[in-house]
Amino acid sequence: MPNILFAARPERWTHYEPHLREALAEANLSHANLTTEANPAEVDYIIYAPNGDVQDFTPFTRLKAVLNLWAGVEDVVGNETLTVPLARMVDYGLTEGMVDWVVGHTLRHHLGMDAHIHGQDGTWRAGIVPPLARNRTVAILGLGALGTACATALAGLNFRVTGWSRSPKNIPGVQTAHGPDGLQKILKSAEIVTLLLPDTPATENTLNAETLALMPQGAVILNPGRGPLIDDDALLAALDSGQISHATLDTFRIEPLPKEHPFWAHPKVTVTPHIASETRADSAARVIIDNIRRGEAGEPFLHLVDRDLGY
Ligand code: NAP
Repeated sequence: MPNILFAARPERWTHYEPHLREALAEANLSHANLTTEANPAEVDYIIYAPNGDVQDFTPFTRLKAVLNLWAGVEDVVGNETLTVPLARMVDYGLTEGMVDWVVGHTLRHHLGMDAHIHGQDGTWRAGIVPPLARNRTVAILGLGALGTACATALAGLNFRVTGWSRSPKNIPGVQTAHGPDGLQKILKSAEIVTLLLPDTPATENTLNAETLALMPQGAVILNPGRGPLIDDDALLAALDSGQISHATLDTFRIEPLPKEHPFWAHPKVTVTPHIASETRADSAARVIIDNIRRGEAGEPFLHLVDRDLGY
């Protein structure tokens, strides 16, 4: 009988418990012991969130895997007390939520909606028509679970979609590139860029003074990825010079974004409070329990993090 410790924040327990129990029953694992308190030496699996109480895995001597409820693992991947497999969250709820956010904010900027929402002053401004999506190049940096789904959705709307990743990719309807040269190539034509990279040492400041300058003047940035992907000072300078016309930011180096941070009051920045996409308890519970079922059946875990790459 596997012992499963739910170690995300206590207030998440009431939300997750019924879905986890339902998923356990579906996986014929109703006999498993699912709990929020356990003797660490008897725990087989930890359902984890980096902002929960468990930071030292040393006492968990018979642990088989740590199953993260979040897609991002930057706060746990370097934990040296964690020596068992670490899986991250890949879930259709998380993916669909991100597609909605990225498509919505892309269309806002593509259509120039702000001019009408904020410019209703009695002036009939006819004649300013947005280009068709087929004539707009949008780039996705990071072509993993989320980036690929967003790129595919935008291609489905007829945008010219380009994308960048670490390794080569073949995604129908998306022109892809990889590696440092690939980034330069993608940014040169990118009118709206969405960052869906993980936060690792290799991705920090992917957008900096040099790379921002490669983009067409007036380009737009969407960052639902992670704050450290962008050099904040370089972004502010690029916004002030007009090189970048707008940045819609969902993630920040410090969260909550401090009240005094210049992003809050900047007329060319939209702040959303890390809500681009949430893990959904009903679907995420099934992903977690499926991995526990796999562990119990001796099958390989899904969505494993590469500890060396950091994602
Ligand atoms: P993923 O499946 O691991 O995909 C990551 C992508 O980034 C992959 O395509 C990877 O390339 C690429 N990449 C990694 N390092 C790179 C590098 N050095 N150079 C170029 N490309 C690199 O991750 P995901 O599930 O799509 O999630 C992406 C990120 O979204 C998460 O890490 C998290 O930070 C963020 N997120 C935010 C929210 C929110 O609400 N704001 C919600 C969920 C997730 P390869 O394909 O070649 O490996």
